[in-house]
Amino acid sequence: MIPKIDLNLLTLSDKSLWGVENLKEIPSSTGSSTKKISKNKINGFKSVNILTYADLIRYFPRRYIERSKIMSIKEISQSDVKGEVTFTGVVTDISVFTTRTRLRITTFKISDDTGTVSAKWFGPQYIERRFSKEDRVFITGKPEVKKNGSVEVKNAYIEINDYDFEKDNVSFVPIYRKIPNNSPNWTRKKLNQIFQNTNDYDPMPAKLRSKYKIAPRTSALKNIHFPKSSEEVSKARRRLVIDEFMYLQSFFHKVKEINKNSQSGVSFIHNEKNLTLLIKDIGFKLTNAQTRVIGEIKEDMESSVPMKRLLQGDVGSGKTVVATYALITAVQSGYQAALMAPTEVLAEQHYKNIKEMCKNFTFDIYLITSAKKDKSRIQSIIEEGSPALFIGTHALIQEKIRFNNLGLAIIDEQHRFGVEQRSKLTDVGTSNTPDLIIMTATPIPRTTALTVYGDLDLSILDEHPSGRKEITTYYYDGLKETQEKIFNHCDEHLKKNSQIFLVCPFIEESEKMDIRAAQSVYEIYKEKFSNSNVELLHGKMESSQKESIMRDLHTGKIDILVSTVVIEVGIDVANATLMIIESAERFGLSQIHQLRGRVGRGSKKSECILHLSEKKKLDTVTIEGKSRIEAAMNTSDGFEIADLDLKIRGEGKVLGKDQSGVSELKIADIKKDLELLITAKDIFEDKEASSKFKNRIFDEALVFLPHYKEILFG
Ligand code: ADP
Ligand code: MG
Repeated sequence: MIPKIDLNLLTLSDKSLWGVENLKEIPSSTGSSTKKISKNKINGFKSVNILTYADLIRYFPRRYIERSKIMSIKEISQSDVKGEVTFTGVVTDISVFTTRTRLRITTFKISDDTGTVSAKWFGPQYIERRFSKEDRVFITGKPEVKKNGSVEVKNAYIEINDYDFEKDNVSFVPIYRKIPNNSPNWTRKKLNQIFQNTNDYDPMPAKLRSKYKIAPRTSALKNIHFPKSSEEVSKARRRLVIDEFMYLQSFFHKVKEINKNSQSGVSFIHNEKNLTLLIKDIGFKLTNAQTRVIGEIKEDMESSVPMKRLLQGDVGSGKTVVATYALITAVQSGYQAALMAPTEVLAEQHYKNIKEMCKNFTFDIYLITSAKKDKSRIQSIIEEGSPALFIGTHALIQEKIRFNNLGLAIIDEQHRFGVEQRSKLTDVGTSNTPDLIIMTATPIPRTTALTVYGDLDLSILDEHPSGRKEITTYYYDGLKETQEKIFNHCDEHLKKNSQIFLVCPFIEESEKMDIRAAQSVYEIYKEKFSNSNVELLHGKMESSQKESIMRDLHTGKIDILVSTVVIEVGIDVANATLMIIESAERFGLSQIHQLRGRVGRGSKKSECILHLSEKKKLDTVTIEGKSRIEAAMNTSDGFEIADLDLKIRGEGKVLGKDQSGVSELKIADIKKDLELLITAKDIFEDKEASSKFKNRIFDEALVFLPHYKEILFG
């Protein structure tokens, strides 16, 4: 008898799938593994990076077919199912046809004992190269039953079916990504063999498992490959996703540990009185999320380890007041604090709001933008180092400005700034590293958040202030007859003394014929609403002009503000209840979400109108444009928007090159599994998490995420 070895991914990552010595170590119960493995097969595995036992085990199915749901072709032809169905059959005929318009149509005839389906694929997918006659396949698709009872499926999902349902006692059929020159059957047998001949192993202490209701590692691995029910799949998946997220956590912890040992920061003094003074006159009660995040920041600020924190919160979740708490704490502890915003308009608004929120405090607050006249005076104050609060644009990080006593830097709407800029602000050359908070609205893909800012601690404002009303979204074609309807909407809002935003994509008419530039839209609205105050705001205006417009907007003097996208981020006017987005099909989904977030900030019912470009209808804009409009109509949830945005734009475009490490995650989906990411973090930081456990996770991470390892540790 050869002793069984543990199902330890780390040791199994050392064992080649076809090394002779390993065949001894994983004894075969069926004897099949001692058969010679062909070179072709080995190369096929190598081409998808499966070299070791651990790689094979971590080759997770990408989906499952529930066997009880497999229909016979006859059943399909006689039912009137509307959605997708799955059937299985044999390929009996393959033909390829190219139309005169060069459209390639591939047709498979697929038969089972009860009938035949014709499956068609349109476009250059060369599906016929992956299958041949006599192949047994699964097909999943939406059937069309013709009058004569024949069935057709278009662009269906097809996969080799080499299950022997008599023998393979499966109720859930796992479907794997294809491994060249190899059948799923071999993979299955091999996996089965591994599971038969290994002992249970789990690096996670049982205490933690029961506390967080986590499935044991071994059963998770077994059930992800050989599940009996969908519950088993989801339990298994949960465990394995958490494992992968813990890999990331272990990396980030290591990075932080290295930072901690190499940088010393400021220990600020939290004074409960400051917080009370802040809250006293803001006119609302903090949400639970705000209170929680303020607590997280307080702890970081009190510690002498430099804070590096990402504050994520959907538009309107109330990030500013949280930031203000931190700024007050820094200044009251005798340091300078800086808040950097991406645009002048936003910097000015922050200045105004924060000044108001800080009215119970005596420290000085300065605004610094490139347009500011008395810059040199402020520069010298900055250099003197006396405690004060500085709010500005990237003018804050100009060459000439040298902070002398910077304790805290906050960057708002970070995705507008590059990574270099964030380090420029905090890299002030003083002995103490300033604390850093980066604030961002949710719709940056979480993948970006994690890979670029993974070394940051994460605070999430996952709650909107109560009393907020849902924003109703409409869309209108760019036709003459719809313009009148939009005017009617405006009338209704103006009647209630509410304010209206109207956003246009470009400022110069010459850019594109079909874009109604802000200027001409402005003329139209000015004429139509001659009794109201209609104003125009765009990026190229003088700062003083912009400032006065912002002032008038806040005091309610302006009824309709026509602007370019300058107002995209951050503008906060509670009395604004209608947002009209012109040429809406041209805006990105996140942009629409941000813009829509400019209304619905007070207690009044708000609306958003997506107005297509002139002469455009939903069916005549681009496919992406249409999907964006539809997505915006369907949801206003920032998390969902971020996901949809990613889908529409394509992962590749959203994730820069330096984030390609994400693809190393085999099962976790940073977009969908955010909650589990937080669970993984909680587990990893739990008091019960022994350093032995953490080190094992880190060791696994080094092996399974080599790309991340490279990015983070060189
Ligand atoms: P964002 O997270 O988008 O930057 P802001 O900080 O600008 O959001 O806050 C949006 C609006 O909600 C502001 O008018 C702010 O005064 C208000 N607000 C913030 N917190 C609360 C709260 N707890 N209750 C009610 N209103 C709040
Ligand atoms: Mg904001």
